[in-house]
Amino acid sequence: MVDFQAVLDEIYAELQNTTDKGAVASYIPELANVDSDNFGIYLNNIQGDDFYVGDWDTPFSIQSISKVLSLAKAFSLVGNKIWDRVDVEPSGNPFNHLSLLELENGIPRNPLINSGAIVIADILVSELENPKADFLAYVRNLTNDQTIDFNLDVAASEKETGYNNYAAANLLKSFDNLENDVDEVLDFYFHQCSIEMDCQQLTNAFFLFANRGKCMRNTAHLTLNQVKRINGIMLTCGFYDEAGEFAFEVGLPGKSGVGGGIVALLPNEFTITCWSPGLNDKGNSYLGMMALEKFTTKTKLSIF
Ligand code: GLU
Repeated sequence: MVDFQAVLDEIYAELQNTTDKGAVASYIPELANVDSDNFGIYLNNIQGDDFYVGDWDTPFSIQSISKVLSLAKAFSLVGNKIWDRVDVEPSGNPFNHLSLLELENGIPRNPLINSGAIVIADILVSELENPKADFLAYVRNLTNDQTIDFNLDVAASEKETGYNNYAAANLLKSFDNLENDVDEVLDFYFHQCSIEMDCQQLTNAFFLFANRGKCMRNTAHLTLNQVKRINGIMLTCGFYDEAGEFAFEVGLPGKSGVGGGIVALLPNEFTITCWSPGLNDKGNSYLGMMALEKFTTKTKLSIF
């Protein structure tokens, strides 16, 4: 039996004083205000025991990590019809890359790059009665925490500078792969990305992907088959153009966001979140990548 607390304490001690922590994202101006010294880790095993260290209870912007939760909601609502509108191949390109989208006739490479997540947002805007409120309720329900909320300043800040996402949405619309208005879909997308959570909440939100589709309260939200597919997409597409590197170094399905969060999981074993807002040049948390490499190496626990 691995002593998870001892491993987390050891990793924290080894990395806490690292001087190069990467650069905090600044293309969404509101994110630039976050202190790059934050560093926290939280782990929940499948039995429900938890282990934590550092700034695990400070909320941060989950950004692209929300794309997995919107995919889960859309998948549970419309099933395999999703795959008519978005593919499941890694892109090998940055998250906001547009030329592949044009080359491939408006079918995004996967649901975890921006264009793919915008298609998923479009599905949710069509399917949900009150899209933003209903999606927030879904996330609160998965996490069993009613305090989770959007950060409206972050959503507004991204809207002001979201030229690339407007370009992606317009391109999707021109290829007939967006049912709703560009503005309406992007308003939803910017809000989903602005959700704030701490490491504990994010770990709890992703518990269902380690727990065969059942959330913390044991309610089933996804079938086992759907969990298999979403975990497969996280493994191959969850880390921008560094998904191969993450599989190689860490060996777990997971997802990162430009707020500096990374959540990863080992099916039937545990879910873990690291947060450190400084990013490497691929947009993944600098310390988070190192911490998770150390974690799976020290515990010898990975899918491989
Ligand atoms: N809202 C961000 C964007 O669309 C998410 C980026 C990310 O976390 O990868 O640019």
